[in-house]
Amino acid sequence: MRTEGDNMNGLKRQNRAAVLMNLHRYGGLSRKRLAAMLRLTPAAMTKIVAELISEGLVYEEGSMPSGGAGRREITLRLKTDSFCTLGVSIGLKKASVSAVRIDGAVIASETVPLPNQAPAEETVKMLSERLLTLARENGVDRENVLGLGIAVRGVIAADGRTVKTTFDALDTTDFPLCDRFETYTGLPSVLSNNVRALLAAQTFLSREEQPESIFFLRCGSGIGAAFSAGGEILEGDKRQCAEIGHIPVIKRGGKPCHCGKSGCLETIASPAAIREDAEACLSETETPLLWKLTNGKKDAVTTARVLDAARGGDAGAARICDRAAEALADALKSVVYLLDPGKLVLYGGIFEHPYFMSRLSAEMDVGVDAAHAAPMEKSRFNGKLEPCAAGLLYTIHFYKNGGMTE
Ligand SMILES: [Zn+2]
Repeated sequence: MRTEGDNMNGLKRQNRAAVLMNLHRYGGLSRKRLAAMLRLTPAAMTKIVAELISEGLVYEEGSMPSGGAGRREITLRLKTDSFCTLGVSIGLKKASVSAVRIDGAVIASETVPLPNQAPAEETVKMLSERLLTLARENGVDRENVLGLGIAVRGVIAADGRTVKTTFDALDTTDFPLCDRFETYTGLPSVLSNNVRALLAAQTFLSREEQPESIFFLRCGSGIGAAFSAGGEILEGDKRQCAEIGHIPVIKRGGKPCHCGKSGCLETIASPAAIREDAEACLSETETPLLWKLTNGKKDAVTTARVLDAARGGDAGAARICDRAAEALADALKSVVYLLDPGKLVLYGGIFEHPYFMSRLSAEMDVGVDAAHAAPMEKSRFNGKLEPCAAGLLYTIHFYKNGGMTE
């Protein structure tokens, strides 16, 4: 619970943040409209807007009819092409660096391969150099870079600046990631878990009114999730909120998981698990269509091919895919009954496959009454958030801070 009051500066920051977020969400608005939306006096709005214009964050664009006889009002817009942020995302065996405009448009992005358990200090130094080079080579002026957003797999510490564990992405634990990036880049930085960064980007880019709460599920190499309520992404007491991939599913004899346990949801329902399970039982008799699609070669087995085989009637492939869809649906149904989210957003290539989506949708209906039917949908940014999410972390921080760097 918030127990501190706001001084005048806090109030100013809050008003500026509301103006910026409304201009981002709704596009062009007049001073009058903004004042009405924020329930501020026209004089107060004129003052705030004058500041934002002088700082180059907002500009005036012609005029629009006000509804009155012949009167026209000036439209205000965010100036999205002058400032940008840098973003770095650290995953298992790879990272990406990018420069992102404050409306989310990616100026440039590149992937950097990393070893497993990459040496933390050396890696941060190398990625910082790549970030600054990327910005320079793409004509981004240092003075127009607002800050750096860092997204990392794993668990962030309570201070919001240290990463407690990256599950083998980096070689160390309790590492002050923000401080080290700030030292090497000279940029103010913010840090988030990578899946939470994707949800933040999804919400920011969606612009339209959002439901009160969103459960965001990412199926990539693993299974991760993030949950937002009232516009805030929940962290949990130990910063481990919504780690759905590590819900125990197989009680005995399950496959080992990278988290150190075995039998986690991720070990049977992730795209990688589907591929591994199909590889293990690939044979002319057990998986005949998959055998044909891969010429009997294990290294030709991909998740998409397993799903294609299942769709084509391969009983062995279908058994693996159906088990994955069923386990994932069971976990998601628990989410629906526990949290009552306004929306379940699915993110990941596997949700583009009609076989997997139809199995998942069918399983979601099993044992559920109409009052708990999940409003489930594929993200409309599927596959597109990774290059912009980290950079947008800083943009969102900047807007929430009223467009002030202090
Ligand atoms: Zn696990």
